[in-house]
Amino acid sequence: MTEERGKFRSEKTALITGVSGQDGRYLAELLLEKGYSVIGLSRQSLLPTTLGIVDDRLELVACDLSDVQGLQHVIRSHRPDEIYNLGAQSRPGESWQRSLYTGEVTAMGAHRLYELALQECPKARIYQASSSEMFGRPLTFPQDESTLFSPVNPYAVAKVYAHQMATIYRRNFNLFIATGILFNHESPRRGMNFISQKIAYGAACLKLGLTNSPLLSELGEPIVKERKLWLGDLNIQRDWGFAGDYVHAMWLMLQEDVPQDYVIGTGILHSIRDMCEIAFSSVGLEWERYVETDERLLRPTETGATVANPSKARHRLGWIPTTSFSEMMHAMVAHHLYKMEKN
Ligand code: NDP
Repeated sequence: MTEERGKFRSEKTALITGVSGQDGRYLAELLLEKGYSVIGLSRQSLLPTTLGIVDDRLELVACDLSDVQGLQHVIRSHRPDEIYNLGAQSRPGESWQRSLYTGEVTAMGAHRLYELALQECPKARIYQASSSEMFGRPLTFPQDESTLFSPVNPYAVAKVYAHQMATIYRRNFNLFIATGILFNHESPRRGMNFISQKIAYGAACLKLGLTNSPLLSELGEPIVKERKLWLGDLNIQRDWGFAGDYVHAMWLMLQEDVPQDYVIGTGILHSIRDMCEIAFSSVGLEWERYVETDERLLRPTETGATVANPSKARHRLGWIPTTSFSEMMHAMVAHHLYKMEKN
């Protein structure tokens, strides 16, 4: 570490898989701010400016998590101090249609990375992006690091594989792998096929008086159709936090002396109905007038109402979320309004 402008600056190199995703971008910004050099992996050839990051310490490399040689080359040539494995087929809904691919990327991609780290840079500290989806339909509430996994979709099964394999590499090969069992986290950068974004986008479209939205849902129909926002089950409850807070927890885990598993969440449950109410009221609309249910959007097997007990992260890492659910939803709606009004 060196001291620069009164702040401690790191001289470390970090590798981030899935750098173009929601968390990847926030994490790259955080690490660059802390003085790291960052190698970001994406399947596509991207320029840092595409991610909205202008910093010559960010290098982007095109590499798929299923490409062993490509991964080996990146790890061997950079020998990173820290590896954050965020790359994944990350959509539980889509994992029903693409279960083999999900296993290949989300489960085996992580396993490949552990094995290559063991061979090429066994001192590297690794963060594995585990998920609250692994709890599936839990029997105990709230969920902590000791809660049993009972995954109910192919995505969650793949995450359990990667998580359990992390434990094996940690115990048997002494690799430093910390896992973050992260509950849902959202932001204006969240993928458009997630519910929080649909609601934020829908509220913005309806505020602007659009009858049909240009963006389509997974059904191939406008997200806002005939001045209504069409959603699935409004009673679904989740523990939703802000992504910017959660990437800070990832970094904290790798600064500890001993690698461990940490549950990261707010500990507060909200329903999709709450999300609609907050998003629509932020633009002065009554959500009940605009939101409709479409049975085709119901999931085959829905995960239970999982809620985090983040005590371990609070006590050991000193981690606490800083952005509330309402602040986050307001920011997401404002982001869509800004973009639409600009265009
Ligand atoms: P995103 O879907 O936004 O980002 C994941 C990234 O993975 C994509 O941007 C994609 O980048 C990359 N990716 C997909 N397939 C491959 C592949 N075959 N090889 C290499 N990279 C690939 O996810 P988030 O940022 O929201 O989440 C980060 C991680 O945390 C994911 O692993 C997710 O499953 C996990 N997680 C997320 C939660 C959340 O609420 N956000 C909750 C719990 C866990 P590109 O197209 O550029 O290759």
